[in-house]
Amino acid sequence: MPMNVGDSTRCVHSGLPLAKPGDPIVPGPLLSTAYHLRPEGVEPGDDGYGRPDNPTRRLLEAAIGELEGGPSLVFASGQAAITALLMTTLKPGDTVVIPSDGYYQVRLFASTTLAGMGINVIEAPTAGPYPPFAGVRLVLLESPSNPGLDLVDIGTVATMAHAEGALVAVDNTAATPLGQRPLVLGADVVVASGTKALAGHTDVLLGYVAAREQSLVDGMQRWRNLSGAIPSPFDCWLVRRSLGTLALRLRQQSANAAALVPVLRSHSLVEAVYHPSDSPFASQLNILPGLVSFELPSATHVAAFLKAAQLIAAATSFGGLHTTADRRHQWGDSVPPGFVRLSCGIEDTADLVDDTLAALDSATTLSR
Ligand SMILES: *Cc1c(COP(=O)(O)O)cnc(C)c1O
Repeated sequence: MPMNVGDSTRCVHSGLPLAKPGDPIVPGPLLSTAYHLRPEGVEPGDDGYGRPDNPTRRLLEAAIGELEGGPSLVFASGQAAITALLMTTLKPGDTVVIPSDGYYQVRLFASTTLAGMGINVIEAPTAGPYPPFAGVRLVLLESPSNPGLDLVDIGTVATMAHAEGALVAVDNTAATPLGQRPLVLGADVVVASGTKALAGHTDVLLGYVAAREQSLVDGMQRWRNLSGAIPSPFDCWLVRRSLGTLALRLRQQSANAAALVPVLRSHSLVEAVYHPSDSPFASQLNILPGLVSFELPSATHVAAFLKAAQLIAAATSFGGLHTTADRRHQWGDSVPPGFVRLSCGIEDTADLVDDTLAALDSATTLSR
């Protein structure tokens, strides 16, 4: 592929094999768990067994690696990818900085498993302030953060962390590699849940890492093989197939969220609205995600809003074709009970605006 092509072009063409007459343009999933070996025995580079070796998985890794700009590995889920990073870069006595307002199960893993191994865990809010990085081994950032949608200046934090010898990883789940290229901005590693906008059809769980250096990837590849946290070949095939429309989907989701921001801000029932465009670092993103968070007075108001909405499903996860809303307090996020993370789908903007307004109006009839 030429170097300087646009996002849609990269999404459509990344991770496809070289053209060869008679070969399929889009190879199907290769599901076998074992491969014919040479009678003389296996040689380096041969595919032998499905846990370490699968060509469908390698095609997806080539595609994601091309989009993120570094060698990539895919995992059974975002959580499997993030824990692979943590378990291969940290050892007892090390210090790790993680977001205090980021994905809650990463915080839970840190406060239980990592802390139990004698790893020192420091939490810092995405928008800062950050602690001094002296003695820190790994700084994990999440920008935009989930669910508050705060941003951090990745380049500045990376410079400060590198000056103290720390590694910098960025959870790129909300942005996707089209929205943000952390490796270009200065990070050493990208981790992400592909379950969200990357796969985008609410039908597959997947995670990935991408790194500036092959040596970091090698450690995580060994970990993946030993822990067994591989995605199925069929899921890899589904995600590679979904990547072709990532740019299209993201554009519509992003436009829908941007259209809802003023609608939410001007409605009397809405107490606060959070959108990455509010951040001084918004230009770090090439395209804003299709997410907007907002606060209603109470959980009861959110329930009334969800009951009245016809196009907005109550669901967790985000980044899918369908618009969904999640009241994050119920999952243990430290946000008020009426806090909603809205994930805009690819519906027509006017329909979504109308439905949101009607649902807010309906919820307003509840007394406060
Ligand atoms: C969903 C999510 C994860 C975990 O991904 P899974 O695919 O559900 O394991 C990690 N980080 C962020 C920011 C997420 O939104």
